[in-house]
Amino acid sequence: MIEQYRGIAPDSVLREIALLAEALQGRSLLHVNATRSGGGVAELLARLVPWTEALGIRTTWEVISGSPAFFEVTKAMHNALQGDEVEIPRADLEVYLHGLQDNAKRLRLEADVVVVHDPQPAYLIQFGALDRRRAVWRCHIDLSQPYEPVWRFLRQAVSRYAMAVFHVAPFAQPLPIPQLLIAPSIDPLSEKNRELSEAEITAVTERFGIDRRRPLLVQISRFDRFKDPLGVIAAYRLVRQNFDCQLVLAGGPASDDPEGERVLAEVQEAAAGDPDIFVLSLPPGSDHEINALQRAATVVIQKSTREGFGLTVTEAMWKGKPVIGGAAGGIPAQVIHGVTGFLVHSPEGAAFRLRYLLSHPRAAQRMGAQGREHVRRHFLITRHVRDYLMLMLLMLQERPSNPLRLPAAAPSGGECPDG
Ligand code: UDP
Repeated sequence: MIEQYRGIAPDSVLREIALLAEALQGRSLLHVNATRSGGGVAELLARLVPWTEALGIRTTWEVISGSPAFFEVTKAMHNALQGDEVEIPRADLEVYLHGLQDNAKRLRLEADVVVVHDPQPAYLIQFGALDRRRAVWRCHIDLSQPYEPVWRFLRQAVSRYAMAVFHVAPFAQPLPIPQLLIAPSIDPLSEKNRELSEAEITAVTERFGIDRRRPLLVQISRFDRFKDPLGVIAAYRLVRQNFDCQLVLAGGPASDDPEGERVLAEVQEAAAGDPDIFVLSLPPGSDHEINALQRAATVVIQKSTREGFGLTVTEAMWKGKPVIGGAAGGIPAQVIHGVTGFLVHSPEGAAFRLRYLLSHPRAAQRMGAQGREHVRRHFLITRHVRDYLMLMLLMLQERPSNPLRLPAAAPSGGECPDG
């Protein structure tokens, strides 16, 4: 596995992975989340699980299940934790807790280290099925300004874990347990991110009726209000006054997101009558199409008002695209204002920056190249695997009954020449 990434990822990170994996041979790692497809967490796990498995760490992935009512409650919690003032009645919380109790009985939750992703499965820790000393809660959502009553409820569960992991510092919360920062990543070798030929890109754009001779603005996102698709249409309309451009809003469903259909209908209504707006509802597994659309873009937009990290931003930057991103969540960690793209706070701001990038192609190209290098250094899967191995080591070291055999120090002369 490591060899496949040589020449793509920084050598220093590959060396660290080899060293850490040696200390973790035969150990096991379990991930638990709420969906196997749709959204960033599923995207990450699909790539990370085979990676750590190939390194000799037994890695499993369990997914909680639930009724539509269960996922309506978890979606309301998600919205509240990202700042919406949503009251969740006690009866709904009971639906949630009962749902997780059933999952706790059904799932296989044993491993040396267990990482529970996001709020949906967080309360599994309550039902005795998880060993608290082995359990890490990893948060992928924007917890910078949670709605307090709902966060107080979730906090009771989170406080029982051995450790909490957040993407970026503004999400960290007062908690009685240690907190770590680990940013997400993309896999440069996946179908979504591998290099494509011009013919492959054009085959996809032609299938959707997109004209490659005219500028193309692209936002790829689940149809979720926090991704602000209506704000993107408003920005596009302002830009259209000066530029003959097209807009793609492409997204698909996630099995844990019951709101998607409603938001999609709103977006379709807002776009109706404009043949240059392409609202694409993509089936799961449309990685090739997403790759091609991102590569066909002149500028990629991710105008979120709340955002966990924004893997679509990472994906676009890896493809050398300048990105206009909402100044929310993990986006400012990626979009360095004026260097890899622009951070915006409104449709007007987005339109202003779009006009600049459409009229300055050389600057747009430079920003795209800078974005790709930023991703290479900080947001490739190799760095992420390294961080997971470090996390496992940290968790196992705190158990004196289960000592680790640490490998000898790295040979000297291996200092990171390339970041
Ligand atoms: N994605 C996808 N199909 C879609 C929409 C999004 O495969 O129709 C992918 C997208 O390429 C990215 C992930 O889902 O890899 C979304 O992650 P992000 O962090 O941007 O947002 P989230 O959905 O987790 O809020």
